[in-house]
Amino acid sequence: MSTRPTLRELSCADDYDPNSMPVPRAREVIAQFLSPISTIERVSVRAALGRVLAADVISPVDVPSHDNSAMDGYALRFADLKSDGTVTLKVAGSSFAGVPYQGVLKTGEAVRIMTGGVVPAGADTIVMQEHVETKDGQVSVGGGHKKGQNLRKAGEDLQRGQPALRRGQPVRPAETGLIASLGIAEVPVYRRLRVAFFSTGDELVSIGLPLGEGQIYDSNRYTIHGMLTRLGCEVIDMGVIRDDPQLLEAAFREAAAVADVVITSGGVSVGEADFVKDLLNKLGEVVFWKIAMKPGRPLAYGKIGNAHFFGLPGNPVSVMVTFYQFVRDALLKLSGRDPIEALPSFRVPCTSTLKKAPGRTEFQRGILTRDASGDLSVRVTGEQGSGILRSMSEANCFIILPTEQGNVTPGTLVDVQVMEGVI
Ligand code: AMP
Ligand code: MG
Repeated sequence: MSTRPTLRELSCADDYDPNSMPVPRAREVIAQFLSPISTIERVSVRAALGRVLAADVISPVDVPSHDNSAMDGYALRFADLKSDGTVTLKVAGSSFAGVPYQGVLKTGEAVRIMTGGVVPAGADTIVMQEHVETKDGQVSVGGGHKKGQNLRKAGEDLQRGQPALRRGQPVRPAETGLIASLGIAEVPVYRRLRVAFFSTGDELVSIGLPLGEGQIYDSNRYTIHGMLTRLGCEVIDMGVIRDDPQLLEAAFREAAAVADVVITSGGVSVGEADFVKDLLNKLGEVVFWKIAMKPGRPLAYGKIGNAHFFGLPGNPVSVMVTFYQFVRDALLKLSGRDPIEALPSFRVPCTSTLKKAPGRTEFQRGILTRDASGDLSVRVTGEQGSGILRSMSEANCFIILPTEQGNVTPGTLVDVQVMEGVI
């Protein structure tokens, strides 16, 4: 039997206020319901880019595989050097990257060696070419060197049998290179998360059709498609669904049957929520919250059968903010990512005056710039209405104003979260 509380049990907890849910509390509740997908696929190194490793990658070799030189110079025996004088050694041959010296270095000898060249048997130290003089097949080396200098030991980066990468790590370009450096052609990754989404609203028109009176084009399906694609999800776009209980029920059922996660936008604001709520309570277990944040107050989360459900607000900016603050982490966790690092943020002075009421977290859209003296500051993108999608497009960061914060005067330090790499 599962020890996990049900959403209904959680909603009876003392500190639970569905009409003013703090951002971190809502995240915690959602996190308790997420278990990562378990299906594993084996894919080639290139195809693994953007996927999540389903097992540790164990190194089948020592890295580097041989003792090798970190410099262009001469390999020699440290015992041949004098600490306070110059010695002259015979250059017995060369060791270039990929073409090693075949013999054993004898006393009184040095071998010309290039970066990455295998250190010959008998040698224990590399002297940089800038620190020697060469003449007639001989090399003169002064004092002041250290035994073992400029030499990379076999297995120094990674020993055979050690994990080079961990289960749950995302495969980025560095990881594809690292996997290839071990001679591994295929890795196990989790299958992609399948996410179905649709927009709700009688006023919505799909692009390509003319707008009637009071109608608007559906933009949320495009931002949601983009955000999901960037996260590496398999997307199932179910279009626009009218505000009609029968059509919505059919859409929810179909989405939950084919996807791991169902995301909708619109239909969760006051008035509309009631009928969607009844419908979802019939189909699954769903809670509605008014989150203490701006933009993005109404949010629904729950399960419909085995699928997770996120009911995002309708306003285009609210959709993006709630996605990044709640859905993104949840999707990463479901995709097998472990650990999930918090989105990085840092503090910079704000040059704008910001209106902010205490009691909720605000995510204003900002433009982070560096002035001529190299100092960073942020300014707001102008009007912050939750329907103004242009504010997201102009912004390169979120300005995060915490619950207790009031109005911001120019010069105040504020937290910013850079969008690049996240969005
Ligand atoms: P709702 O939550 O359904 O009341 O929607 C709130 C606001 O967002 C309304 O002004 C809607 O017209 C707008 N909206 C809802 N869905 C979309 C969408 N898919 N694209 C653009 N705007 C939308
Ligand atoms: Mg609506």
